[in-house]
Order: sequence, then structure tokens, then C-alpha cells
Amino acid sequence: MSKPKLAYYLAGGCGGCDMSIVDLSEALVDVAMALDIVFWAPTVADAKYKDLEAMPSGSIDVGLFSGNVRNSEHEHIAKVMRDKCKVLIAFGICAALGGIKSLVNLHTTEELMETAYIYTYSTDNPEKILPQTSYVVDSKYELTLPKLMDARTLDQVVKVDYYIGGCPPHHEHVAKAVTALLSGQLPPAGSWITMGKAVCEVCDKNPVLKGQPKEFAKTVKRVYEGVPDSEKCLMEQGYLCLGPVTQGDCGSKCPSVDIPCRGCGGPIPGVKDFGLRAVSAVASMLENEELVDQIPDPVHLFYRYTLAGSFLGKRIKR
Ligand code: SF4
Ligand code: SF4
Ligand code: SF4
Repeated sequence: MSKPKLAYYLAGGCGGCDMSIVDLSEALVDVAMALDIVFWAPTVADAKYKDLEAMPSGSIDVGLFSGNVRNSEHEHIAKVMRDKCKVLIAFGICAALGGIKSLVNLHTTEELMETAYIYTYSTDNPEKILPQTSYVVDSKYELTLPKLMDARTLDQVVKVDYYIGGCPPHHEHVAKAVTALLSGQLPPAGSWITMGKAVCEVCDKNPVLKGQPKEFAKTVKRVYEGVPDSEKCLMEQGYLCLGPVTQGDCGSKCPSVDIPCRGCGGPIPGVKDFGLRAVSAVASMLENEELVDQIPDPVHLFYRYTLAGSFLGKRIKR
């Protein structure tokens, strides 16, 4: 029997999701033996887009798309991947819900370009020249750049079959997802591939799991304020933790080292807008309404990983 074919593409991301596959360590050898990796760009192999474009429609069994869709090149390859792959997976929170880099949607593309190329202190650009999508050299050679766009989730461009959260996905969860893929034991199309438990449900600081009542937070603290009690729920101590509404496929990695969960795992099943549910969860754990005024930078706290895929993200688009 021929091996399942796999394609991997990194769009508007950082390469961390690629690393989560490399982090499979020795299991990577088994994965590489079990799969025929036909395309992995631009990080691992010098694969050419024209080679992917030349493959027959539906000839690749599984496509992993990481990063958000930020420019015309990403958009084009998203469409090519959709055409070539029987199953297309939004791999990591950037592809699934926009990721931390979709916070760019708080600004216009013009503002971002001018800041980067004109107004930074270290930039010397008196003529205010900005990158162009096309430039002809010597009246003969056309140089092109992709057109920059607002950040979009993969499913705002093409149909997505499955979603995997995490920034990046935790390697143990990736191993489980790959096993599910290879054995054909996948959830219904359109689902997140997740164990279905919130970070709180796998957090050893959770008082409820120890048979103790949960206390309201009496104050709001930033992570650099004070020293957390490692035995106690961070939220109870005032460190705003999004563990109640975040998928815990990472195994509660941040709270286990006294860092509040920031939500990279994506929303627990049934949640349509992560940020809205996070606002509601945090508000319900504060002792009084006045504490809401102390929440620093709410957009970056509640929508840190999900702005492009949120109701708010859609509304602030130009
Ligand atoms: S989800 Fe995180 S690790 Fe993956 S590409 Fe985006 S920023 Fe990088
Ligand atoms: S709120 Fe955070 S620290 Fe508290 S139990 Fe949930 S994940 Fe753990
Ligand atoms: S604890 Fe939260 S922020 Fe940290 S890795 Fe897990 S899901 Fe991501």
C-alpha cells in the first residue's frame, strides 16, 4: 500500500509550528517513514510552487497549513493547497484564528508600512519610499512582491477540514493528531482536533480538582508583580489566566510554571468567539466589578491569538 502523501506550507507565521513537528524527536523518524512528504515550504525543503501547482487535484492526502493569510502569495498557495489536498488542516493558532500576528488588524496596512519604512527612529528614508508590488529594472526585468493584506484565518480564504490549536501546537498533541490522521480516526469534518478539555481541567493548581472551593480574585496583577504561590490557582491570586476557556492540549504548560494561560490553544469546544468568552470567564472570577478597570490592555489580553477570527476582528476591518 502506498504511503499517505503530506504537504506542509508556512504562510504568515514564524516557523514555530514547523518546529513542533521537528520536536516529535525520535517519533519523527516513524512519521517520516509512514508518510510521503511531497511538499514542505519554505522552511524545510527548497520546494517550488510550480511543482505543487503541477500536482493533480486531490492527489495529496493531507495538507498542513500554518501561519495566517497575510498577503497575495499566501492566498494563492492556500487555494492551491485546497485544490491538491483531500484533507486540509489549519495547523496552529495563526492558521486557525489569526494568531498573535493578526493583531496587525488593529492598524491599517498603510499605518504599518509607514511605521516600518518611514517613521521608525532608525530609518533613513527622507523620500518616503515604500515597497512596491512591481518594479521594472532596465525596462526589461519585472521584480514583484506579494501584496500585503489584513491578516485572515485560513477558513476566511478556503474551506478547512480540521483545526489544531497552539502557538505552536504542543509536540505531544501533534503526535496524537498524526496518529489519528494515519489511523483515519478523525472527528467530524470542521472540528478541532483536540482532547476536548480546558487548560483548567488539566491544571494541577485547579482547586476544584483538589476538592476545594474556588475563590474570587480580590485584585488584578500583571505577571511581573509579586511572586505567585505555586500551589494556588493563578486566577485566584489576581493573575489573569484564560485557562477556563482554552483547549488544554498543551497539558497546562504555562500555569505549571506560574505563567497565566494566554489562550494559544484556541477555544474549548462550543465557543464561537474566544475573546468574548474569555471576557466573560475572567469577569466571573473577579470579586467585584471595579476590578475590571484594572485589567490592562484588554484587546491584547483577550484577543491575543484570535483577533482575525473574532467578531471584533471582522468589524474593525477597513
Ligand atoms: S501559531 Fe505560533 S508558532 Fe505557529 S506560526 Fe503562528 S506564531 Fe508561529
Ligand atoms: S485559572 Fe489558570 S491557574 Fe487557575 S486552574 Fe485554571 S489554568 Fe490553572
Ligand atoms: S497554557 Fe495556554 S498559553 Fe500556555 S501553551 Fe497552553 S494553551 Fe498556550
